[in-house]
Amino acid sequence: MKEKLKQLCEQWKTELLENVRLSEHTTFQIGGCADYWAEVASTGALSNLIKFCQAEGLPFFVMGKGSNILASDQGFRGLILHIGKGFSDMYDDGAEITYEAGMSLIRAAKIAESKSLSGMEGLSGIPGTIGGALYMNAGAYGYEMSQIVTGCTYMDMDGKMRTMEAEELELSYRHSWFTDHPGIILSVTVKLTPGDKSEITTRMLDFLHKRNDMQPLNFPTAGSTFKRPEGNYASALIDECGLKGLCIGDAQVSPKHAGFIINRGRATCADVLKLCGHVQNTVKEKTGYELELEPILLGEQTGA
Ligand SMILES: Cc1cc2nc3c(=O)[nH]c(=O)nc-3n(C[C@H](O)[C@H](O)[C@H](O)COP(=O)(O)OP(=O)(O)OC[C@H]3O[C@@H](n4cnc5c(N)ncnc54)[C@H](O)[C@@H]3O)c2cc1C
Repeated sequence: MKEKLKQLCEQWKTELLENVRLSEHTTFQIGGCADYWAEVASTGALSNLIKFCQAEGLPFFVMGKGSNILASDQGFRGLILHIGKGFSDMYDDGAEITYEAGMSLIRAAKIAESKSLSGMEGLSGIPGTIGGALYMNAGAYGYEMSQIVTGCTYMDMDGKMRTMEAEELELSYRHSWFTDHPGIILSVTVKLTPGDKSEITTRMLDFLHKRNDMQPLNFPTAGSTFKRPEGNYASALIDECGLKGLCIGDAQVSPKHAGFIINRGRATCADVLKLCGHVQNTVKEKTGYELELEPILLGEQTGA
């Protein structure tokens, strides 16, 4: 199987790595090794890799910038399909911009700013890819992918390219059609509004300053640890329960922002999951709210 995979990657000019530490590819800096990592270079390569994995029964996982992933200490027994620099172009037809899925959201927002187009200011500090942002329906400061997306292209599990309109994407809070169905996002088309460039820049800078002031950006995290429960804020509930600063191993409820669990250096996935479980139980007991994890779990989780 390994030799066949190597040959396929060579044929499709796709870099293949073995035993790749997920802690080096996730912003949480947590996770054991993935057996294989493919730096996917084209839709042809992706299509053939999907077909190969299906035929060989090799599990695969799609990764963008790894900024919303909690990877298992045991790693992942399968192939990571990395959608990154091979998918980082953009096309502007004058009415809409299409960004390839591996482009960073930060760069996409900068491109919009350079064209005096408004709609991405609040998204400009989110450290993911456009594909990851559509998958999660990422949002911040009143901005959300759902407000600007008009459609996308994706690859189905038969390796065929398909398109989807915004209405079919089922975008809601941190949810898209892709959260419940298999599919690999290849590009995302957005419609933005012409605006005043200096005002756009000012808004972007304001949001970045807010992030710096409020969030523990000097520690590895996966962003907000819990989704916002209906009618409240996870951080306010955690704070109210006196859990700010609580540690299990090197995982800590951030003393700066209770909505973030930070990795103080050597946190394991098991530490984070134990801490999350404790936070969830305490918040449920004291306030009645159920907190749901926001990061996606990758690999077999044995430490909870
Ligand atoms: C410091 C910090 C601040 C953050 N702030 C915010 C914020 O303000 N708002 C917010 O919404 N999020 C925030 N996040 C979380 C994260 O950045 C977003 O969820 C982002 O959209 C994830 O993109 P990614 O490329 O890193 O996806 P990954 O973390 O790599 O993957 C996340 C999920 O998307 C899937 N996926 C990724 N790419 C594709 C693709 N091309 N096709 C199909 N599935 C795909 C993966 O399989 C996985 O299930 C923050 C994270 C950090 C570390």
